[in-house]
Amino acid sequence: MSDSRSAHSFHAAHALLADGWAADVRLQVQDGRIAEVTRGQAAQQGDTRVGILVPGLPNLHSHAFQRGMAGLTEIGGGDGDSFWSWRELMYRFLAHLRPDAVQAIAAQAYMEMLESGFTRVGEFHYLHHDADGRPYANRAEMSVQIAAAAAQTGIGLTLLPVFYAHADFGGAPPNPAQRRLIHDVDGFAQLLDGARTALATLPDAVLGIAPHSLRAVTGEELSALLPLTDGPIHIHIAEQVREVEACLAWSGRRPVQWLYEHAPV
Ligand SMILES: [Zn+2]
Repeated sequence: MSDSRSAHSFHAAHALLADGWAADVRLQVQDGRIAEVTRGQAAQQGDTRVGILVPGLPNLHSHAFQRGMAGLTEIGGGDGDSFWSWRELMYRFLAHLRPDAVQAIAAQAYMEMLESGFTRVGEFHYLHHDADGRPYANRAEMSVQIAAAAAQTGIGLTLLPVFYAHADFGGAPPNPAQRRLIHDVDGFAQLLDGARTALATLPDAVLGIAPHSLRAVTGEELSALLPLTDGPIHIHIAEQVREVEACLAWSGRRPVQWLYEHAPV
């Protein structure tokens, strides 16, 4: 992030440093980055003075496009409402999103994260394809938009492209509302190549993968995905009661137990 005030200094009565709390800490910032940290120093003229200073927090789990549906699901529609009825509305919403809208919504979400003290986002990114379910000419088009939103706002990005292939345990075929999410392993490897390119000019960006969940990914697919990355791996492992019950019915194991028995957690 560029700033016409290229240098700035802060004084904190107390700051949380790598080795714990310290008193009277001065921080000098140059070109948007911390250049120097000194402790046991009195405030100097021009310092921005704060009582307590802590490092920026990472937001470990974001679906940035959902910022655009805030307000649509906050009021319950009756006794039958649940995560699953929320998800139906979310699918109806995402069916309308174009790449430029995804960038604009993500930029708003990231700006608000920065204003709230988050300095890095783990983007669990599952909206990949065009409205009819076909890959864009650049398979990583939506990843390009997410990277652009991170570049525009200055937040650190850990991009976690999501592999989603099935509607339920046991490799059930995906339902039509999921058409913008779906990959096979080969297509997903191409997506990762495109995502790597999309992140190339973004400082400090990290690329990982996100097998969506055990209901959306078979054990064979999970094994095929893991060698595709040396970055972080993120999964919705036990999100819903119904999902835990379905996992028990399918495998005799709860999802976390299944994962421990079948993957290098
Ligand atoms: Zn999630």
